[in-house]
Amino acid sequence: MSASKRDYYEILGVPRGASKEEIKQAYRKLAKKYHPDLNKDNPNAEEMFKEINEAYQVLSDDEARARYDQFGHSAFDQGAGGPGSGGFGDIFGEFDFSDIFDLFGSFTGGTRRRGPVRGEDISTTVDITFEEAAFGTTKTVKYRRLTECSRCKGSGAEPGTSVDVCPQCHGSGQVQEERNTIFGRTVSVRPCPTCGGEGRSIKTPCTNCRGDGRAVESEQISINIPPGVDTGNRVIARGKGAKGVRGGDYGDLIINIRVRPHEIFKRDGANLLLDVPITFAQAALGDEIEIPTLEGMETYKIPAGVQSGETRRIRGKGLNYLNSNNRGDLIITIVVQTPKKLSPEERELFEKLKRIQTVESNSKSAFDKFRDFLRGKK
Ligand SMILES: [Zn+2]
Ligand SMILES: [Zn+2]
Repeated sequence: MSASKRDYYEILGVPRGASKEEIKQAYRKLAKKYHPDLNKDNPNAEEMFKEINEAYQVLSDDEARARYDQFGHSAFDQGAGGPGSGGFGDIFGEFDFSDIFDLFGSFTGGTRRRGPVRGEDISTTVDITFEEAAFGTTKTVKYRRLTECSRCKGSGAEPGTSVDVCPQCHGSGQVQEERNTIFGRTVSVRPCPTCGGEGRSIKTPCTNCRGDGRAVESEQISINIPPGVDTGNRVIARGKGAKGVRGGDYGDLIINIRVRPHEIFKRDGANLLLDVPITFAQAALGDEIEIPTLEGMETYKIPAGVQSGETRRIRGKGLNYLNSNNRGDLIITIVVQTPKKLSPEERELFEKLKRIQTVESNSKSAFDKFRDFLRGKK
């Protein structure tokens, strides 16, 4: 068995003279790469992972490394119960994973100290009017969040009582456990069972927060909503979310903006859209009309001969681009309205118009194109 075993230095990809730090670095990189939990699709990963761990167990231990340098794999065959016994098979189960968990943060929570955890983000929605979205506004947001308990100032201990350092772990929040293995002693680290990893012991928990150090309180903050926001935009108030456990930072408050629709304006990004109804006569003759803008009524000149559905762009009269001083345009769509009811006088005039008017044919009129189209179909 030992004849076919790969060299430990080769497995970790380090030279024989590698420093402890180099070995550790190489190991961490490889352990992360081949961790079975991250390689569910690679059946060889577990085998590789075992190999890597085995190599590291030996090369990271001065005494074991010296024996290995001198005798090679045979240095350990005896201790493992003789050749062919499977040697390091158990290592995988016994290995101290804390090194790897460091790489992944709270990977499983297994052997790490339970340190501070950042608080949760809180999400809320604020409704604003179309005009507020256009010009920006300031809104007061009221909400409730877990915040530092005001009674115990976050310590979790009833005021006047003391918080002691945990007698078992002396404040470190973790305890070490030594074990004898075939390589000699190994040390594994686990959260302190007495204090649950907090490193301190509270004799009399705070009556307000029951020792958690956090309590729900009503908050209100004022937020600036910039001009140009639209539904779906979010304003984030950093640190205004929930307080984290064990002294962790505050999360954020996420304010989702919802803009109420406007009666007459619509928007397309920063452009403002407006339908402008006009009469036949205004379309034919042109006219000066009043149109609404965000700033109020404005005179707008309709050219003679404008067609229904035509759009006209009024530059810079739209909404702000977000975080910019530039503005979009007001895009008006001309809607020539066909009268549904006619007064006797109107009827008379339309009758007269009907007699004298023909569909224009100076270029190729829409009427002609329509006729050509029908012919082509047949
Ligand atoms: Zn408290
Ligand atoms: Zn403890």
